[in-house]
Amino acid sequence: MISTDVVIIGGGCVGLTLALALAEQNIPAVVIDAQPEEQPLGEAHELRVSALSSASQAIFTRLGVWQDMIDTRAAPYETMHVWDKDSFGSITFSSEQIHYPQLGHIVENKVIRNALVSKLQQHSDTVTLLFGHKVEKLNVGEREVLVSLDDGRPIIGQLLVAADGANSFVRQKMNMPITFWDYQHHAIVATIHTELPHQQCAAQCFLPDGPLAFLPLSDKKGEQKLCSIVWSTSPKAAEQLLNCTQKQFNQALTVAFDGRLGLCEVQGERQAFPLKMRYARQWVKPRVALIGDAAHTLHPLAGLGMNLGLLDAATLAQTLTQLHQNREDLGDVANLRSFERWRKAEAQTLIGAMEALKRMFSGANPLLKFVRSSGLLLADNVLPAKEQIIKQAMGLTGDLPELAKPLLRD
Ligand SMILES: Cc1cc2nc3c(=O)[nH]c(=O)nc-3n(C[C@H](O)[C@H](O)[C@H](O)COP(=O)(O)OP(=O)(O)OC[C@H]3O[C@@H](n4cnc5c(N)ncnc54)[C@H](O)[C@@H]3O)c2cc1C
Repeated sequence: MISTDVVIIGGGCVGLTLALALAEQNIPAVVIDAQPEEQPLGEAHELRVSALSSASQAIFTRLGVWQDMIDTRAAPYETMHVWDKDSFGSITFSSEQIHYPQLGHIVENKVIRNALVSKLQQHSDTVTLLFGHKVEKLNVGEREVLVSLDDGRPIIGQLLVAADGANSFVRQKMNMPITFWDYQHHAIVATIHTELPHQQCAAQCFLPDGPLAFLPLSDKKGEQKLCSIVWSTSPKAAEQLLNCTQKQFNQALTVAFDGRLGLCEVQGERQAFPLKMRYARQWVKPRVALIGDAAHTLHPLAGLGMNLGLLDAATLAQTLTQLHQNREDLGDVANLRSFERWRKAEAQTLIGAMEALKRMFSGANPLLKFVRSSGLLLADNVLPAKEQIIKQAMGLTGDLPELAKPLLRD
């Protein structure tokens, strides 16, 4: 029997971030994850990457893992260019406009995860990592929660945190209802070699079927000719794009992206992810809290899901730290309500914004195209509005937990 304060189910980037934030405050925790602990990084880039905001960078810097990620493999981007296909509307954001060195970084999810695991291994007296194990049973009592692993081992704690992803086992077992809709999009991800350098620009083109993003990656030679793409399109088109030959895919991609980076060549495999909006109507109940994709999933068109999950982790850690210092019950639902209100409000706003953006940029209706292109053009020329959008996207504004507050700069 392992006895701890916080039992975290799910050792993805969000669950591990919470564990590290707790470890830094000497709050005992156990992390359980079905995946193996060792996940070596290959020569080629991983297909799953995240555009990390400044708020996420601040969290990782304060937790002492950011430099490890930068040293391993990460690519800063200084500009962001968004345009509507076959139209005059476009908008460009630049870090210079707000006197920052970059707008964000593209980091492979595995790089984030491995940096967190390696730092957590230094906290083995506070946090126990149980990789390669699934949770079989959950029992929530009045004073504690009991978790049984697939090898029969019991773990007892004050609070159970579900960080077990979009199809959360905990959320389902605990009957925590979700609002759900299908975006009718599948996202194809792949690594692409481009003819022209990306110049540290994250670019997104809105096609009638959905957005196509090119996210700059680092490469050993410093040629800036590798990108990760997220191509959201109808399930039928996605199937065709997955099953066509590499040559056909390269042609389709080059044309879809208006040839802006010259000829595109896919490197290795392509993968598709069905996109669904999920929003848990309840994020806490006695002895249970949801964070990350277990609480919400949204369209990747603005690259926000991971950033949102990391803020959940930082906020919950802050709430639990205060409770721990005051010697209060970490699993008392009344003590978790402020966390729920704080994070739910932001997730709700972003889900609404993603839906509005997706609808606004869908279809090829000429009138709608004219309206949105005019809107983009207008926004591109109004500096204060642009600055506000950039700062919001970078996570520099809003009600941030302490770990995520902007870092002091020279
Ligand atoms: C195509 C695509 C592109 C994206 N791009 C971006 C982006 O640019 N920026 C951004 O911010 N976000 C992005 N996102 C979203 C981001 O990837 C997710 O929000 C993020 O990875 C969620 O992390 P998580 O730790 O909550 O969940 P996960 O990464 O899903 O981790 C859950 C963990 O729980 C474990 N687990 C599950 N069930 C059990 C169980 N019963 N027992 C034990 N362990 C269990 C799993 O093994 C897994 O390790 C993108 C998403 C997609 C689909």
